[in-house]
Amino acid sequence: MRGTGRLLVLSAPSGGGKTTICEQLLRRDRKLSRSISATTRPRRGREQHGREYYFWNEATFKRHLRAGCFLEWAKVHGHYYGTLRSEIARRRRGDRDVILVIDVQGGLAVKKQDPEAVLIFVKPPTYRVLAERLRRRGTDSRKIIRQRLRNARWEMTQADAYDYVVVNHTLARAVRQVEAIITAERLRRKR
Ligand code: 5GP
Repeated sequence: MRGTGRLLVLSAPSGGGKTTICEQLLRRDRKLSRSISATTRPRRGREQHGREYYFWNEATFKRHLRAGCFLEWAKVHGHYYGTLRSEIARRRRGDRDVILVIDVQGGLAVKKQDPEAVLIFVKPPTYRVLAERLRRRGTDSRKIIRQRLRNARWEMTQADAYDYVVVNHTLARAVRQVEAIITAERLRRKR
């Protein structure tokens, strides 16, 4: 894998702030590119096909799955999500790094296939803060929020398997810390 950019994985429970952190990183770092995942989940709000996700139906997703197009995939909250190998290959050129914003199952699957992948887990300061953020986001029903919180408890136990853990006290601080990790990884002599 030498001669290519780094593969970075950013995970956090839903509502943990990973999407916002990633948006800020991308705005400030021209060498970083986000891999767009495919999903069968319905679009939310202003989401656009090809921007937040590739929104596919289940038949299309499964066809790509059978064809081996995914580096990893998972069923999250009842919907399929997957990282396309083609997305990574296209974006990870020269010294350009690619970041995957995916769940913990996905992060661990990526690490198994590519031990050089850098796994960063963003943790909410407390479980109560996470519940509050999910409610305030207002995008999900109460039932879905309960499901996401149940899932979050398990995800937080998996943080130990990640290379780095950042506690999301404030957005600015979390972004600075993730940037510091990326900088250190770029300066690393050996991978
Ligand atoms: P949401 O529906 O809120 O956008 O995402 C739900 C969860 O699926 C989040 O934890 C998100 O990071 C995760 N996710 C998004 N894309 C992928 C992917 O390609 N693979 C995996 N394993 N998880 C993903």
